Amino acid sequence: MTEKVRCLIIGSGPAGYTAAIYASRANLSPVLYEGMQPGGQLTTTNEVENFPGYPQGITGPELMEDMKKQAERFGADIRFGMATKADLSSAPYKITIDGEKEIEADTLIISTGATAKYLGLPDETKYAGSGVSACATCDGFFYRKRKVAVVGGGDTACEEATYLAGLADKVFLIVRKPFLRASKIMQERVLSNPKIEVLFEHETLELTGEKVVQGANLVKRRGQADEEKLHIEIDGFFLAIGHKPNSDIFKPWIETDEVGYIKTVPGTPRTIVPGVFAAGDVADPHYRQAVTAAGSGCQAAIEAERYLSEKGI
Ligand code: NDP
Repeated sequence: MTEKVRCLIIGSGPAGYTAAIYASRANLSPVLYEGMQPGGQLTTTNEVENFPGYPQGITGPELMEDMKKQAERFGADIRFGMATKADLSSAPYKITIDGEKEIEADTLIISTGATAKYLGLPDETKYAGSGVSACATCDGFFYRKRKVAVVGGGDTACEEATYLAGLADKVFLIVRKPFLRASKIMQERVLSNPKIEVLFEHETLELTGEKVVQGANLVKRRGQADEEKLHIEIDGFFLAIGHKPNSDIFKPWIETDEVGYIKTVPGTPRTIVPGVFAAGDVADPHYRQAVTAAGSGCQAAIEAERYLSEKGI
């Protein structure tokens, strides 16, 4: 049987939970589906030290649990389940959960996040949280005066390498091509930084170390006659090879950029579909921070409330 809700929130990162806090306090009786990874990307981070209000820091899972409890305290209905299909052709919008349950929503807040891309090496899972990270801003601080490697040749990789060079003693930038794809200014910053060594035409074969990352085995010009193997000693291995926004099921109805980030009216979470809002990393190729996601979740809930009162729903 179809269930009808006033405000449906998809996704349980800082954007989704913050939207749920605001929407429940505004009496919208929000229903939130957590998705495949309850708590979102932050649950894969150890210590969060840059979320305001926690002078001593807090672990990612604790922060997300606190946000969830805060939303539940005001009556948000938080459920386990994954949105598998969307029909935004007309209001109320239809969302299918886990391939079977259908929900009709007067307003929809899409806060499905983005997933960092990994190389696909088994070692990335083995050392997850023990030296492997996909967020230099989140985890870089733990590598002060250490050696780290960043994988990628785009703007994110250059930005992360430059950021890490401000903390670590040495940063290897592992680039698979003989050139960087990043913007000129970012390239110049990297190439002129004495702490950064760019390893062009290198690929990572495996990570080494007892319980935590202690090194990486690389190969230069893999498969060519002059192929060379190289071992580097590192304490941290950062992936910066792009993110995939989790927007696939909404793409037939809303605008996305070429990567899949949902396009919103600048400065707002409004999509081209009235009453449908996008918040957090799914609509943010630039900042991708917990606090910016939380801020946009708040905006989305306020917009949802205004939309409903304007429509008199
Ligand atoms: P990009 O897609 O631009 O770059 C990804 C990089 O990762 C490329 O160098 C790519 O290599 C490399 N890569 C991808 N897959 C692999 C793999 N399997 N093994 C090794 N290397 C791999 O992603 P970004 O996240 O850097 O940027 C996304 C967008 O955000 C861009 O438009 C960028 O300009 C923008 N951005 C802007 C910033 C700013 O203006 N300050 C900061 C950060 C991002 P290859 O080149 O060989 O394909």
